Amino acid sequence: MKNKIKFPFGSPWITSKEISTVNKVLKSKILVHGQHTANFEKNFKQFTKAKHAIAVSSCTAGMHLFYYSVGIGMGDEVIVPAQTHLATAHAIELTGAKAVFIDSSLDTGNIDIEKIESKITKKTKAICVVHYLGLPVDIKKIKYLAKKHDLYIVEDCALALGAKYFNKHVGTIGDVGVFSFYPVKHITTAEGGMVILNNKKLATKIKLLRAFGVNKNFNQRKLPGIYDCEYLGFNYRMSEIHAAIGIEQLKKLPIILKKRKILFLKYLENMKMIKDIQVLQSKKIKNLNSSFYSLSFLLNKDLSKKRSNIIQFLNSNGIGTSIYYPHPVPRIKYYRNKYKYNQKNFLNAQKISDDSISVSVSPYLSKADIDYICEKIKLAIKKYKKK
Ligand SMILES: *Cc1c(COP(=O)(O)O)cnc(C)c1O
Repeated sequence: MKNKIKFPFGSPWITSKEISTVNKVLKSKILVHGQHTANFEKNFKQFTKAKHAIAVSSCTAGMHLFYYSVGIGMGDEVIVPAQTHLATAHAIELTGAKAVFIDSSLDTGNIDIEKIESKITKKTKAICVVHYLGLPVDIKKIKYLAKKHDLYIVEDCALALGAKYFNKHVGTIGDVGVFSFYPVKHITTAEGGMVILNNKKLATKIKLLRAFGVNKNFNQRKLPGIYDCEYLGFNYRMSEIHAAIGIEQLKKLPIILKKRKILFLKYLENMKMIKDIQVLQSKKIKNLNSSFYSLSFLLNKDLSKKRSNIIQFLNSNGIGTSIYYPHPVPRIKYYRNKYKYNQKNFLNAQKISDDSISVSVSPYLSKADIDYICEKIKLAIKKYKKK
């Protein structure tokens, strides 16, 4: 029997505010094309200081929309980190283009920038960076490469809402930033995403393609029911219900970020005392402000074989855990079948997938909870080290 998890890994922070706003939207009967979506976009723009924000149905949809709208497709290549959610690669492959994977650097878990240039070919059209666990990628070098080879930079910001690179919000440094509002992320709309960018022409096109490609949206039509369409597009819109939740969630974000940082630092303080583990992203990195999505630690070599036992021990003590991410994406069956998998090329990404455990930095936790969690981690390591 499964023990009850007292400290779930990801637990959305839903209050009466979200519940009453959803009620109001339902009663209004305006469920799409309304003011909530427009306001959520406006508030998101203000928070990130991006020129344009476009609400979409998910982060995956948003990334797919961007690649599609700039004409990336069959015969093209896009560079991505191997250590990410598979959605990062799927969004590329959905266009017919090929995802080209790069290993991680082991102290941050972010893409190993040194390994990018050798993978750039005539077919390469873009580099996608993922701000892994909320720590910004050192993007300056990537900007230089992108300029030199005429490539787009896509920022997958699914774990990085609130993260800053030299005081600029992530997602505003490359050509586009895409966020996720899936329940375990910093804020949630149940399902949802946001595309931010500074290029007006592209923003206009993405807005069209988000809704089939029709030339006049619902509110712009002079006569109801009259519209035309010149592009092939999707239905990747966000509904009013989702957007209304997002507006409430965004209001809490400053508190969420503040709490996450406090909790992350508390973990670091405690974990310094635990031998046989290495905390990812524990080094102080100047001018990179993390959004502290979660805390991942690597087990040393002898312990890594005992990862399942350690996870089970923690779970049975009420501590929820996760793994970010369970496979380097090229090792996942779909990609393995398509491109073969050479593990030698992904040693660091593989180490993170196979030897790490992720614990929660969710704002519902207290410092005392972190003490408890760390105490149990210490115990688990002691217990399984001997065996
Ligand atoms: C969660 C996640 C996604 C997918 O987001 P959806 O909104 O579920 O599409 C993409 N990239 C990364 C890095 C993620 O963690």
